[in-house]
Amino acid sequence: MRQDLEQLKQHFPLLDYLRHNYWKARRAGTSAEFVGLCPLHRETQPSFYVNARKNLFYCHGCGHGGDLIRFIELSQRLSFRQSVAYLQEQIPAPDGNVLLEKTAAFYQLQLHRHPEAIHYLEQRGLHDSALIEELGIGYAPGGNLRRYLLADGYPFHSLLDQGLINHQGRDSFCRRVIFPCRQRSQIVNLYGRSIGAAFPHRFLPRGKGGLFAWELVSRFCAVILVEGLFDLAVLWQAGFRNTTCALGTHLTPAQFDQLSDLPGRSVYLVLDRDENQAGQQAAQQLARRLENAAVAAHIVHLPPGHDPNSYFLAGATAADFAACLQGAPPC
Ligand SMILES: [Zn+2]
Repeated sequence: MRQDLEQLKQHFPLLDYLRHNYWKARRAGTSAEFVGLCPLHRETQPSFYVNARKNLFYCHGCGHGGDLIRFIELSQRLSFRQSVAYLQEQIPAPDGNVLLEKTAAFYQLQLHRHPEAIHYLEQRGLHDSALIEELGIGYAPGGNLRRYLLADGYPFHSLLDQGLINHQGRDSFCRRVIFPCRQRSQIVNLYGRSIGAAFPHRFLPRGKGGLFAWELVSRFCAVILVEGLFDLAVLWQAGFRNTTCALGTHLTPAQFDQLSDLPGRSVYLVLDRDENQAGQQAAQQLARRLENAAVAAHIVHLPPGHDPNSYFLAGATAADFAACLQGAPPC
C-alpha cells in the first residue's frame, strides 16, 4: 500500500497536478518554491506555497498543508481512501499491448533463472534454445510481476483489468510456462501451461486472436494444424515450420477464414484422439467445411494415444511424422 501511494504521487507531481487544474503560480525565492492564490480558501493575496521538490504544499492563510492526497481530501471533500481512488481513476489506461510486451519480456527473462521451467520444457521434448528464444517462451515463477510493473509506473488496477494479477496481487500465471500469442507482431494474448498440479491451460481474459504465427505459416501451400502450442513447438523443432495452432479443438470463424484464404491449399489436421471421439468428430466436421471452401483437408492419424508432442517424446523422428502425413489421404 505504502509503495502504491508513493507511485501514485510520483505519477502526479503536485505542481503539475495543480497547474493542470488551473492554479497560477510564480516562483518564490528558492528554485523549488512556488506561490499563488489558495485553491482551498478565498483570498486576494497569494499565500499558498508549493515545494515542487518535496511535493508538498502549505497555505499561510488557512493553515492547511500536506501532499497531493491531502490536497484532494480537502479540495474534493473526500476521505483518504476515496482520494486515493479518485487519483487512481485519473491515471490514463496504459496501452494494453505495451503492458503485455513488458510482461512477456519479464517472463522470458525469468525462464533461465528457474531450472524447474527449463526442466519442464525438456520433459515436453523442447530443447532447441534458439527456438525457445524465437517463440518468446517465458516462465512466471509467481509473486514478482506486480512489483516489477508497479515500479515501471503501471497502476495496480491496470494489471488487474488485464488479468495479469489477481485481487491479492499475485500472478495469474503463477508457476506456468508462458507463450506469447502474436498477431501482426503484436501480442494479443498469453498462454500459460502449468508446470504443477494447477489447471493446465490458462489465457488472459481476451480473444485468442487468429491462428498462431499465421504471418509465417500462411505462405505455405501445405499447412499442418495442431491443437496445442507444445505440439507446434516440437514440430517446428523437427523442421515442420508449416505448422500452425488453433489453441484448442475448435476454430474461431476468423481462424477458419485464415485457413481457407488460399484456394488450393492443403491442410493436414493433426488433432488429438481422445477416447470419446470428440476430437475425431471435430476433425471430420472441420475437414468437410474446409473442402467446401476449396481447401484439401487431410486427417492425419498418429499411433493410438499420441498427439504430436507425445509422439516425438516417444522417440518418433521427422521421417516418422512425414510418413504419417503422407499416409493421410484427402478427405
Ligand atoms: Zn488557504
